[in-house]
Amino acid sequence: MLLYSTRNAGQFVDLKEAVLNSLPKDKGLYMPNRITPLPESFFRGLPNMTFPELAKTVTTHLLSEAVDPSYINEIIEQAVNFDAPIVSLKEDLHILELFHGPTLAFKDFGARFMAGLMGHFVRNEDRELTILVATSGDTGGAVANGFHHTPGVNVVILYPKGKVSKLQEKQLTTLGGNIQALEVDGTFDDCQRMVKTAFLDEDLQQRRALSSANSINIARLIPQSFYYFRAWQQLKQPGTHTSFCVPSGNFGNLTAGLLAQKLGLPCGPFIAATNSNDIVPTFLKTGSYDPRPSVATISNAMDVGNPSNWARILDLFGENWGQIRAHIKGFAYSDEQTREAIKEVYQQFDYQIDPHGAVGYLAAQAFQAQQPNSEVVILETAHPAKFPDTVEAETGKAVCIPEALAKLADLEGSKISISRQFEDLKTYLMD
Ligand SMILES: *Cc1c(COP(=O)(O)O)cnc(C)c1O
Repeated sequence: MLLYSTRNAGQFVDLKEAVLNSLPKDKGLYMPNRITPLPESFFRGLPNMTFPELAKTVTTHLLSEAVDPSYINEIIEQAVNFDAPIVSLKEDLHILELFHGPTLAFKDFGARFMAGLMGHFVRNEDRELTILVATSGDTGGAVANGFHHTPGVNVVILYPKGKVSKLQEKQLTTLGGNIQALEVDGTFDDCQRMVKTAFLDEDLQQRRALSSANSINIARLIPQSFYYFRAWQQLKQPGTHTSFCVPSGNFGNLTAGLLAQKLGLPCGPFIAATNSNDIVPTFLKTGSYDPRPSVATISNAMDVGNPSNWARILDLFGENWGQIRAHIKGFAYSDEQTREAIKEVYQQFDYQIDPHGAVGYLAAQAFQAQQPNSEVVILETAHPAKFPDTVEAETGKAVCIPEALAKLADLEGSKISISRQFEDLKTYLMD
């Protein structure tokens, strides 16, 4: 697989360069030059494949030129070692639970696969790699967990002070070892800007081998396509009447769905569900794309004012608004509506949904009102136990906290506080 920049379709790099550098110098995003559909035999065999088997087949199809098959097996064995089960609310409405990994959010898939791939690429390098990652909640924990103890790799996580939940913060600050958490006095957008600036800073480039683990890294997207196939396997009659509803922030997850579709997965239009950071639904409605500072909501992992993967989606559709509108339907909801939805899902289906999934539920309802014969799979992106206050307030029932998360509450974390000035980050990294 060769990759080009969304800002320069004529120049190619190999997978190693795209994964280790994360961002091209021209500030575009890397895209695979060619995505050929999986063979028909894959879809015939799919019903009988295990999740790791299907993940290996998809990865081999995409990456066999760049990564040795035996190593692909090793990466998948480590990365895809938990399931993504479907829970049906109704015959035509399902939840795909993506939170069964170690940090209880879908980002575990991308982070663990990327850690495996990067670990492979740095094996014979003499310089240590520093992974910089900005997080609005869940990315940091997943990345930290994925890379913990990976030889030759250090991870530096930036998160906005006071804007992630207590448990999310513990997930970032309690690992230690090769993981360092930086608490930034600013917003997620500040964190993301600081990381982007670091990649363009000459001094830093000389001092450290920097890489990124945000959803801008192509290595995060590939494994996120796996669970769309996993969902498909579990449906009774999957096909083009099935749509995936994706609670979205940076739009990496939805981009991965489009990748699965390009790989041949038959499905209907994607549903982009956002909170009041509704830049994309507004674009779909009006055709004008107006990024703006993010506002804080109860679905905080989607508080993004300028979705970093949007450039990829534009690229996939040749910037054609009509095409994008045909493939992606957008809906946005307030916190108040989200809370109501958490209550409704519990009352009607006895299911405790987290705030991100609840935004998805609302969008799925709205979509099905427009398209009555559709079937929808809502991606439940996080475990409700990550947002216990909100979920318990609406459902009146305690959320069962998985053991791994419960243990964190008693651990003492360690972090370094910095301002939102890039210079602060630079000073830390130059040391
Ligand atoms: C990251 C995240 C999202 C948003 O995913 P994107 O790929 O950035 O669109 C949604 N829900 C949860 C729980 C997340 O952690």
